[in-house]
Amino acid sequence: MNYTMSEVLQFVQENDVKFVRLAFCDMFGTLKNISILADELPRAFENGISFDASAVRGFLNVEESDLFLFPDPGTLSVLPWRPQQGRVVRFFCEIRHPDGTPFEGDGRHILRRAVEKAARMGYVCKIGSECEFYLFEADDRGKPTKIPHDEGGYLDFAPRDKGENVRREICLTLEEMDLKPESSHHEQGPGQNEIDFQYSDALSAADNLITFQSVVKMVAARNGLYASFLPKPFPDQAGSGLHINLSLSKNGMNLFKNRNDGHSQESERFIAGILNRVREITAFLNPLTNSYARFGCCEAPKYISWSHQNRSQLVRIPAARGEYSRMELRSPDPSCNPYLAFALLIYAGLEGIEQHIDLGEPTNLNLYREDEATLKSFAVLPETLDEALKIAEKSEFVRACLPQKTVEKYIAAKEREWRLYEQAPDKAEFEHAFYFS
Ligand code: GLU
Ligand code: MG
Ligand code: MG
Repeated sequence: MNYTMSEVLQFVQENDVKFVRLAFCDMFGTLKNISILADELPRAFENGISFDASAVRGFLNVEESDLFLFPDPGTLSVLPWRPQQGRVVRFFCEIRHPDGTPFEGDGRHILRRAVEKAARMGYVCKIGSECEFYLFEADDRGKPTKIPHDEGGYLDFAPRDKGENVRREICLTLEEMDLKPESSHHEQGPGQNEIDFQYSDALSAADNLITFQSVVKMVAARNGLYASFLPKPFPDQAGSGLHINLSLSKNGMNLFKNRNDGHSQESERFIAGILNRVREITAFLNPLTNSYARFGCCEAPKYISWSHQNRSQLVRIPAARGEYSRMELRSPDPSCNPYLAFALLIYAGLEGIEQHIDLGEPTNLNLYREDEATLKSFAVLPETLDEALKIAEKSEFVRACLPQKTVEKYIAAKEREWRLYEQAPDKAEFEHAFYFS
């Protein structure tokens, strides 16, 4: 719904809205919110609602801790799982300092700047993400067990697939929230599922992914299950990826549209730009120690390569036609902060166009089956979080795209996670990451 401020106030009055959730994400993409009474909404639009930014991961220190949330009227959504009398609506917010200037560490602000840069160059980038997740049995306190909800596999049908009712409820909830679910299925792993919703402009795509993940968690919990976005819950089963599909248009024309003689030069350079920077931004696309266990098997990439249909590669250009023509980046996973991830990908793609980077020939090989000698010719994604962080820390590109404080705080927090993992890998991944992903 693309409401203006006055339309929002009218909606609130006419639809028995009692509470307003002001939502935003911390630096790692975890959803946070404050609830205000609907009567306070005009004040929130005008002066913002303050919160303690020193208590939010990756934001500010105690010495300068006040930040303000300003609801973005275009993001109004009724929460369908809350009471329908005395309704609850939710907005994603802009975050500002007391003097009214934007808070540079706000992921939405960071992504908006990347979108503005694309616009200045004449481009609109559309993004669609495909988010996989596992459903686990929960114990009677709602905590996850390591028992998957079923033993089903790829595209299985009930009764092997026990996820159909949960997926149905998720799709219906997403529809009520205007997210347009397009398809859903049982994925390869036991208890693993995927639900795809419609692509949109980059900022809405990131907001929608955050909404999607919260709906999945909430519906699972309501059904006595635990939904996990951990990238690799079982070492010998498929991991959960977050394929990011990007398209680029200029003057309303999708530049990825397959032509008989190949793709447009701009779309190829955009892909080349992303491949060129992917190692530097992997710490942001794959932020957990566990993320690196996913690479190199079960249709997750390891090498830096592209092709048209081959699922062993990092970038795939699917056979889809018309408005669905796009590139698919297969390395990211659902534990990333989509605002930072999408911003970095847009900047990398635009740099490819600006610097005329050549995409080179596609690799039409199954990279899981090739011999060592062939594989040696490919660059590889970082193999651990530690390696990814070291590359990110040295990257001038990352520092040019993200605010300096964000980069420093992000890397420092992730280095702490790496150290905890080195001391006690199982504890770090299955007691900490499992609960938070
Ligand atoms: N689960 C695979 C991954 O980790 C992707 C499977 C697919 O292509 O949907 O990336
Ligand atoms: Mg999938
Ligand atoms: Mg895919």
